Amino acid sequence: MNEFEVLERSIHEHNAQLVAVSKTKPNTAIMDLYNQGQRIFGENRVQELVDKQASLPTDIEWHMIGHLQSKKVKYIAPFVQMIHAVDSLKLLKEINKRAQQNDRVIDVLLQFHIAEEESKFGFDLSEAEQLLSSTDFKDLKHCRICGVMGMATFTQDMSQVKSEFQKLKSYFEALKNQYFLENEAFKEISMGMSGDYKIALEEGSTMVRIGSLLFGSRN
Ligand SMILES: *Cc1c(COP(=O)(O)O)cnc(C)c1O
Repeated sequence: MNEFEVLERSIHEHNAQLVAVSKTKPNTAIMDLYNQGQRIFGENRVQELVDKQASLPTDIEWHMIGHLQSKKVKYIAPFVQMIHAVDSLKLLKEINKRAQQNDRVIDVLLQFHIAEEESKFGFDLSEAEQLLSSTDFKDLKHCRICGVMGMATFTQDMSQVKSEFQKLKSYFEALKNQYFLENEAFKEISMGMSGDYKIALEEGSTMVRIGSLLFGSRN
Protein backbone atom coordinates (compact mmCIF):
# COMPACT_ATOMS: atom_id res chain seq x y z
CA MET A 1 0.00 0.00 0.00
CA ASN A 2 1.23 3.52 -0.67
CA GLU A 3 0.85 6.37 1.82
CA PHE A 4 -2.38 7.53 0.26
CA GLU A 5 -3.97 4.08 0.48
CA VAL A 6 -2.91 3.81 4.11
CA LEU A 7 -4.50 7.20 4.75
CA GLU A 8 -7.77 6.27 3.04
CA ARG A 9 -7.93 2.99 4.87
CA SER A 10 -7.29 4.41 8.33
CA ILE A 11 -9.84 7.17 7.81
CA HIS A 12 -12.38 4.61 6.70
CA GLU A 13 -11.63 2.23 9.57
CA HIS A 14 -12.19 5.03 12.08
CA ASN A 15 -15.31 6.32 10.41
CA ALA A 16 -13.71 9.72 10.11
CA GLN A 17 -13.86 12.36 7.40
CA LEU A 18 -11.07 13.70 5.25
CA VAL A 19 -10.63 17.42 4.82
CA ALA A 20 -8.23 17.75 1.88
CA VAL A 21 -6.15 20.83 2.66
CA SER A 22 -5.55 22.45 -0.72
CA LYS A 23 -3.98 25.75 0.38
CA THR A 24 -1.39 27.07 -2.10
CA LYS A 25 -2.29 24.27 -4.54
CA PRO A 26 -3.75 24.99 -8.00
CA ASN A 27 -7.26 24.14 -9.13
CA THR A 28 -5.93 21.34 -11.33
CA ALA A 29 -4.62 19.52 -8.25
CA ILE A 30 -7.97 19.96 -6.54
CA MET A 31 -9.78 18.63 -9.58
CA ASP A 32 -7.58 15.52 -9.60
CA LEU A 33 -8.83 14.62 -6.14
CA TYR A 34 -12.35 15.78 -6.93
CA ASN A 35 -12.44 13.37 -9.83
CA GLN A 36 -11.52 10.58 -7.43
CA GLY A 37 -14.55 11.46 -5.35
CA GLN A 38 -13.20 13.86 -2.73
CA ARG A 39 -15.68 16.65 -1.90
CA ILE A 40 -14.42 18.32 1.29
CA PHE A 41 -11.58 20.78 0.81
CA GLY A 42 -9.96 23.05 3.39
CA GLU A 43 -8.24 26.41 2.95
CA ASN A 44 -6.66 28.78 5.44
CA ARG A 45 -6.78 32.10 3.58
CA VAL A 46 -9.97 33.97 2.81
CA GLN A 47 -8.99 35.39 -0.57
CA GLU A 48 -7.73 32.06 -1.85
CA LEU A 49 -10.85 30.32 -0.60
CA VAL A 50 -13.12 32.85 -2.31
CA ASP A 51 -11.24 32.57 -5.61
CA LYS A 52 -11.25 28.79 -5.60
CA GLN A 53 -14.89 28.51 -4.64
CA ALA A 54 -15.84 30.76 -7.55
CA SER A 55 -14.02 28.68 -10.11
CA LEU A 56 -14.55 25.09 -8.96
CA PRO A 57 -17.59 22.77 -8.88
CA THR A 58 -20.43 23.93 -6.67
CA ASP A 59 -20.81 20.62 -4.85
CA ILE A 60 -17.47 21.05 -3.11
CA GLU A 61 -17.85 21.60 0.64
CA TRP A 62 -15.41 24.32 1.61
CA HIS A 63 -13.98 24.35 5.10
CA MET A 64 -12.12 27.36 6.48
CA ILE A 65 -9.46 25.77 8.68
CA GLY A 66 -7.15 28.69 9.46
CA HIS A 67 -7.33 31.65 11.78
CA LEU A 68 -10.16 33.92 10.65
CA GLN A 69 -10.39 37.65 11.26
CA SER A 70 -13.89 38.90 12.03
CA LYS A 71 -13.76 41.54 9.31
CA LYS A 72 -13.29 38.86 6.65
CA VAL A 73 -16.18 36.60 7.59
CA LYS A 74 -18.50 38.39 5.17
CA TYR A 75 -16.57 37.16 2.14
CA ILE A 76 -17.01 33.47 2.90
CA ALA A 77 -20.38 33.53 4.67
CA PRO A 78 -22.39 32.94 1.45
CA PHE A 79 -20.90 29.51 0.86
CA VAL A 80 -18.57 28.21 3.58
CA GLN A 81 -19.67 24.86 5.01
CA MET A 82 -17.63 24.79 8.20
CA ILE A 83 -15.31 27.16 10.07
CA HIS A 84 -12.84 25.16 12.16
CA ALA A 85 -10.93 27.76 14.13
CA VAL A 86 -13.46 29.79 16.10
CA ASP A 87 -11.62 31.22 19.07
CA SER A 88 -13.67 34.14 20.38
CA LEU A 89 -17.22 35.22 21.06
CA LYS A 90 -16.61 38.24 18.86
CA LEU A 91 -15.84 36.00 15.88
CA LEU A 92 -18.79 33.76 16.63
CA LYS A 93 -21.13 36.76 16.72
CA GLU A 94 -19.83 38.00 13.40
CA ILE A 95 -20.27 34.57 11.80
CA ASN A 96 -23.81 34.51 13.16
CA LYS A 97 -24.60 37.97 11.78
CA ARG A 98 -23.26 37.19 8.31
CA ALA A 99 -24.90 33.77 8.22
CA GLN A 100 -28.21 35.41 9.07
CA GLN A 101 -27.77 37.97 6.30
CA ASN A 102 -27.25 35.07 3.89
CA ASP A 103 -30.18 33.18 5.34
CA ARG A 104 -27.91 30.31 6.35
CA VAL A 105 -26.69 28.38 9.34
CA ILE A 106 -22.91 27.98 9.38
CA ASP A 107 -21.26 25.02 11.09
CA VAL A 108 -18.39 25.92 13.39
CA LEU A 109 -15.84 24.23 15.63
CA LEU A 110 -14.31 25.75 18.75
CA GLN A 111 -10.54 25.88 18.53
CA PHE A 112 -8.57 24.84 21.59
CA HIS A 113 -5.00 25.61 22.43
CA ILE A 114 -3.50 22.19 23.15
CA ALA A 115 0.08 22.63 21.93
CA GLU A 116 3.05 23.58 24.02
CA GLU A 117 3.99 26.30 21.55
CA GLU A 118 2.97 29.83 22.36
CA SER A 119 0.00 30.83 20.26
CA LYS A 120 -2.53 33.58 20.47
CA PHE A 121 -5.22 31.30 19.13
CA GLY A 122 -7.52 28.86 20.82
CA PHE A 123 -9.55 28.58 24.00
CA ASP A 124 -8.77 26.76 27.17
CA LEU A 125 -11.59 24.78 28.72
CA SER A 126 -12.80 27.42 31.16
CA GLU A 127 -12.92 30.10 28.45
CA ALA A 128 -15.04 27.85 26.28
CA GLU A 129 -17.33 27.06 29.20
CA GLN A 130 -17.74 30.75 29.86
CA LEU A 131 -18.70 31.35 26.25
CA LEU A 132 -21.18 28.49 26.13
CA SER A 133 -22.81 29.59 29.39
CA SER A 134 -23.21 33.20 28.32
CA THR A 135 -26.56 34.66 27.34
CA ASP A 136 -24.90 36.24 24.31
CA PHE A 137 -24.16 32.78 23.02
CA LYS A 138 -27.72 31.56 23.44
CA ASP A 139 -28.94 34.20 21.00
CA LEU A 140 -26.81 32.94 18.14
CA LYS A 141 -29.21 30.96 16.00
CA HIS A 142 -27.24 30.99 12.78
CA CYS A 143 -24.13 29.20 14.05
CA ARG A 144 -24.20 25.52 14.75
CA ILE A 145 -21.45 24.36 17.09
CA CYS A 146 -20.40 20.96 15.77
CA GLY A 147 -17.42 20.20 17.99
CA VAL A 148 -13.81 21.08 18.66
CA MET A 149 -10.57 21.56 16.75
CA GLY A 150 -6.94 21.62 17.76
CA MET A 151 -3.38 21.36 16.57
CA ALA A 152 -0.69 19.39 18.38
CA THR A 153 2.82 20.64 18.97
CA PHE A 154 5.15 20.32 15.97
CA THR A 155 7.50 17.72 17.44
CA GLN A 156 8.93 14.27 16.81
CA ASP A 157 7.86 13.30 20.31
CA MET A 158 4.77 11.28 19.52
CA SER A 159 3.94 10.65 23.17
CA GLN A 160 3.52 14.38 23.59
CA VAL A 161 1.34 14.61 20.48
CA LYS A 162 -0.74 11.76 21.78
CA SER A 163 -1.32 13.38 25.16
CA GLU A 164 -2.31 16.65 23.48
CA PHE A 165 -4.89 14.86 21.35
CA GLN A 166 -6.17 13.13 24.48
CA LYS A 167 -6.53 16.55 26.07
CA LEU A 168 -8.64 17.79 23.15
CA LYS A 169 -10.79 14.67 23.32
CA SER A 170 -11.34 15.25 27.05
CA TYR A 171 -12.42 18.86 26.36
CA PHE A 172 -14.84 17.55 23.78
CA GLU A 173 -16.32 15.10 26.30
CA ALA A 174 -16.58 17.75 29.00
CA LEU A 175 -18.45 20.16 26.73
CA LYS A 176 -20.62 17.41 25.31
CA ASN A 177 -21.72 16.40 28.81
CA GLN A 178 -22.32 19.93 30.02
CA TYR A 179 -23.89 21.63 27.03
CA PHE A 180 -24.62 19.30 24.13
CA LEU A 181 -25.96 16.02 25.48
CA GLU A 182 -29.19 16.32 23.51
CA ASN A 183 -27.52 17.88 20.53
CA GLU A 184 -26.54 15.45 17.81
CA ALA A 185 -24.70 18.06 15.78
CA PHE A 186 -21.98 18.34 18.43
CA LYS A 187 -19.92 15.34 17.37
CA GLU A 188 -16.74 16.43 15.62
CA ILE A 189 -13.17 16.37 16.84
CA SER A 190 -11.03 17.96 14.13
CA MET A 191 -7.48 16.85 14.81
CA GLY A 192 -4.66 15.25 12.86
CA MET A 193 -2.53 16.49 9.95
CA SER A 194 -0.15 14.72 7.56
CA GLY A 195 2.45 14.03 10.23
CA ASP A 196 0.23 12.92 13.07
CA TYR A 197 -3.10 11.76 11.68
CA LYS A 198 -2.62 8.12 12.69
CA ILE A 199 -2.30 9.05 16.36
CA ALA A 200 -5.19 11.49 16.00
CA LEU A 201 -7.48 8.78 14.64
CA GLU A 202 -6.46 6.40 17.42
CA GLU A 203 -7.32 9.11 19.94
CA GLY A 204 -10.78 9.75 18.55
CA SER A 205 -10.46 12.22 15.70
CA THR A 206 -13.54 12.43 13.48
CA MET A 207 -11.99 14.81 10.93
CA VAL A 208 -8.41 14.84 9.78
CA ARG A 209 -7.04 17.84 7.88
CA ILE A 210 -4.47 16.56 5.43
CA GLY A 211 -2.45 18.69 3.03
CA SER A 212 1.07 17.67 2.08
CA LEU A 213 0.42 13.94 2.16
CA LEU A 214 -2.22 14.38 -0.55
CA PHE A 215 -0.83 17.23 -2.59
CA GLY A 216 2.91 17.10 -1.99
CA SER A 217 4.86 19.50 0.15
CA ARG A 218 4.23 23.24 -0.03
CA ASN A 219 6.88 25.88 -0.74
C1 LIG B 1 -1.93 23.47 6.52
C2 LIG B 1 -2.84 22.97 7.58
C3 LIG B 1 -3.12 21.59 7.71
C4 LIG B 1 -2.49 20.52 6.83
O1 LIG B 1 -1.15 20.38 7.08
P1 LIG B 1 -0.28 19.20 6.42
O2 LIG B 1 0.84 19.00 7.38
O3 LIG B 1 0.16 19.69 5.09
O4 LIG B 1 -1.16 18.00 6.33
C5 LIG B 1 -4.02 21.21 8.71
N1 LIG B 1 -4.59 22.11 9.53
C6 LIG B 1 -4.35 23.43 9.43
C7 LIG B 1 -5.04 24.36 10.37
C8 LIG B 1 -3.47 23.90 8.46
O5 LIG B 1 -3.23 25.21 8.38
